Amino acid sequence: MFDALLIEKSPDGQQSVHVRQVDETSLPDGDVTVRVEWSTLNYKDALAITGRGPIIRQFPMAPGVDFAGVVEKSSNSAFAPGDRVLLNGWGVGEKHWGGLAQKARVPGEWLTPLPSAFSTRSAMALGTAGYTAMLCILALQQQGVTRESGPVLVTGASGGVGSVAVMLLARLGYHVVAVTGREAERDHLTQLGASEILPREDFSKPGKPLEKARWAGAVDVAGGQVLANVCASMKPGGVVTACGLAAGMDFPATVAPFILRGVTLVGIDSVMCDHGRRVKAWDALAELVDMDKLDSQTKEITLQDAVEAAAALLDGKLHGRAVVKLD
Ligand code: NDP
Repeated sequence: MFDALLIEKSPDGQQSVHVRQVDETSLPDGDVTVRVEWSTLNYKDALAITGRGPIIRQFPMAPGVDFAGVVEKSSNSAFAPGDRVLLNGWGVGEKHWGGLAQKARVPGEWLTPLPSAFSTRSAMALGTAGYTAMLCILALQQQGVTRESGPVLVTGASGGVGSVAVMLLARLGYHVVAVTGREAERDHLTQLGASEILPREDFSKPGKPLEKARWAGAVDVAGGQVLANVCASMKPGGVVTACGLAAGMDFPATVAPFILRGVTLVGIDSVMCDHGRRVKAWDALAELVDMDKLDSQTKEITLQDAVEAAAALLDGKLHGRAVVKLD
């Protein structure tokens, strides 16, 4: 028997979340069984656990879009018992049993070998948020945004994706401008490496099709009006990576930044990202992440705590990264 956070739905449609003792017959099909040591809380997990977003496709479901642990059983030739692995996305924690449980079973093709620089805990301190931040930065680099190109803007800077993006971009020598709605996070963002901090209100209201050209690159987790305003304030040839919808799913923009300034909008999908790119992102994280800095913004929680922490994350009350201890 092992512990799992289970999201259940009653016949009248009410969702409830409990830590339950289950056995391996609860696990789905897959050729690798993993003893999960750590998972983390991502935005999507918080939507799933609180029921504030339609993330879970079938009930009951263990949420958790990522995990890191040790292979327990494998009939996949690429993995053997004892291998340390991590997983991000692929529908895990949405339509396939997720990482907020002491065991997981998945097709081996979904697993990434854990780079030796990481413990299972530090990998989950980054989690899908950190890996997505790295995918955004790789895309900026691929599109030719260098330190010399100009400032790089990061929205939702005190959240999971944003805080890691600030930390990594600063480490790479970029001039990082952080956008936050949380005045209290100023010092923290400066410690992570932000050179300037702007209030979220500057980007929240409808603006002009073209604003003053300021940013060479941008990592946007907000979407909605924020993304439209970010695009409008890019320098000629600037590159925006769009990965989130914290401000909304809509995109009330004009084509002006694209046709008059040659701005590029790059979509980032961490869930179905190909294997090669995942490995590249995790290897780059292994090279760039300052483990002490990461540790200083990581706190440990239990499966039981995850329910309360999920609401806090969505309400902007969670500080730093929350790793969920499962071992
Ligand atoms: P967090 O909740 O940790 O961070 C989101 C941050 O966005 C908040 O901390 C806040 O930052 C900011 N924010 C919240 N509400 C608004 C708003 N109305 N307008 C502008 N900014 C707002 O979530 P994550 O960092 O984990 O995820 C961020 C987004 O990225 C989510 O939408 C998530 O679904 C998406 N995502 C997408 C992935 C992909 O594959 N494309 C993978 C991972 C995440 P502050 O307080 O500093 O303003």
